[in-house]
Amino acid sequence: MRMILIGPPGAGKGTQAQRLVQSFGIPHISSGDMLREAVAAGTLLGRTAAGFMKDGLLVPDEVVIGMVIERIAREDCARGFMLDGFPRTRPQADALDVALTHSGVGLDAVVLIEVPDALILERVTGRRSDPQTGTIYHLRFNPPPPEAEGRLVHRADDTAEACSARLEKYHRETTPVVPFYEGKGLLKRVDGVGSPDEVLLRISAALQTVQTTN
Ligand code: AMP
Repeated sequence: MRMILIGPPGAGKGTQAQRLVQSFGIPHISSGDMLREAVAAGTLLGRTAAGFMKDGLLVPDEVVIGMVIERIAREDCARGFMLDGFPRTRPQADALDVALTHSGVGLDAVVLIEVPDALILERVTGRRSDPQTGTIYHLRFNPPPPEAEGRLVHRADDTAEACSARLEKYHRETTPVVPFYEGKGLLKRVDGVGSPDEVLLRISAALQTVQTTN
């Protein structure tokens, strides 16, 4: 299964991807996680990306495209992958298309998780993650267990200000990717309002009709 999760910040892409990759047995490729790792490691790529990320801006296509295309060319992606947070622009979608065509494979599904803007800010500012387990919590909607509380991380770009910038970027840069995949007959729209379990059920139902290629 080669698939993409698209949605605004706080749509639940990371949460759903973590659950879906377990059932499909494919790697979870999150461009945001890869960039955060590069920032933490202080690599050249990370130093280039850090300023854009902090302000809620998109990291330039030429930085992100190479990073992700290289990642999905690795052996563990030979039988599929779940892309989360990539592509986020039309040039990224085009580059992915070219790379997959070149490798003689195709995408099986693109899931768009839809959440109204009004809900996003509350979801994003209350989000915390556990660096030990990778689990994503929300202080109100999905509270962490007491033993994890002391080590939870609040992402630097999960502030109200950076969130507004990210949402604006989403509408301007990422929504044009939607008709691109709709035109290819790959798009599955899923309502992202509800508990993670409810949304997972909707995604699983949407994917039931998908025939995987190779
Ligand atoms: P995410 O974890 O997907 O919310 O990504 C966090 C931040 O990383 C974004 O706000 C961007 O600054 C950057 N980023 C992640 N993926 C991409 C991408 N595909 N293109 C450009 N910037 C990205």
